[in-house]
Amino acid sequence: MTTSREIRLKSRPVGVPTADNFELASVELPDPGPGEVQVRNTWMTVDPYMRGRMNDAPSYVPPFQLGEALQGGAVGEVTRSNDPSLKEGDLVSSFFGWREGFTAPAQAVQKLDAHGLPAEAFLGFAGMPGLTAYVGLLRIAELKDGDVVFVSGAAGAVGSVVCQIAKLKGHTVIGSAGGADKVAFLKEIGVDHAIDYKAEPDLTAALMRAAPGGIDVYFENVGGAHMEAALMAAKPFGRFALCGMISQYNNTDLGEGVRGLVMAVGKSLKLQGFIVSNHQDMQVQFLKDLSGWVASGKFKGRETVREGIENAPAAFLGLFKGENLGKMLVKL
Ligand code: NDP
Repeated sequence: MTTSREIRLKSRPVGVPTADNFELASVELPDPGPGEVQVRNTWMTVDPYMRGRMNDAPSYVPPFQLGEALQGGAVGEVTRSNDPSLKEGDLVSSFFGWREGFTAPAQAVQKLDAHGLPAEAFLGFAGMPGLTAYVGLLRIAELKDGDVVFVSGAAGAVGSVVCQIAKLKGHTVIGSAGGADKVAFLKEIGVDHAIDYKAEPDLTAALMRAAPGGIDVYFENVGGAHMEAALMAAKPFGRFALCGMISQYNNTDLGEGVRGLVMAVGKSLKLQGFIVSNHQDMQVQFLKDLSGWVASGKFKGRETVREGIENAPAAFLGLFKGENLGKMLVKL
């Protein structure tokens, strides 16, 4: 390939991002120099954390730059190689998403051992979102026998893996997601009580009905009213894995306070945030366990696919409107 189309950040969103914050551009791809490869991306991911990178504010990952291609996970195929470690046709993963192709040092991409899974799974349940679920549930929330687990954002990329791991380990799982189709999906993956939070006037009451004896673990993906409900429903010594709070990502200020936080004192709750990149040591065990679960036929990967680089911004915006069941991906 000689040219590639890419998505650039045109302006920084204030509040909810819109299509106007992005622009599609075309670039000439240089020939690979010594030690370089050229890659044609076949899939790219859009993830909620990318919203934070659109702000010009310090965080655990640096902000995207205006007028430059966005970055993110991608998988693709080597089309030209000038490095002995990779050959034409090799499958690779990289952080050069949001573009159709690129030329880069061979060391900047990773050869993908697909373990018999489709390449795009490594952007979803077998990739960063899957590892996030594994780390959050097993290490941060310290899942123990008999725990009742509550998961918000349960039908999404991370949430749907959390629900399935907890079910595979024999737990009672309560999942919350928005809409009847998501509730049906949660039942399909074995969730014991699926809550459609958009249809519930009182989320705390709905959670109390689903878990009359209380919850031991809360896997937080959403924030706001979900956190409040979990605080109210938690049993003494409950553990909260604070993975994300997507309901807060488009706030232009700190938003409203968390009601009911005082419950954490009396109930001796443990609330711990985490970032998956600090837990890469669990990657090998994660893939080993996941391969077993997939092979047993008891684990289901689910994706929502948009096609074409030009539709990547809409795919990203769709995350904030709940348009995805499972992992939102863009096929290139
Ligand atoms: P999802 O696949 O879950 O997609 C986002 C979902 O969030 C939507 O489908 C929607 O589902 C829900 N949502 C969007 N806006 C709101 C809102 N205002 N209130 C309630 N729900 C909302 O995304 P991921 O699985 O990739 O990520 C889930 C969470 O995990 C995010 O908070 C993300 O930032 C976090 N994360 C954290 C990581 C870490 O290292 N700590 C790593 C990866 C992800 P619905 O229709 O049900 O509302």
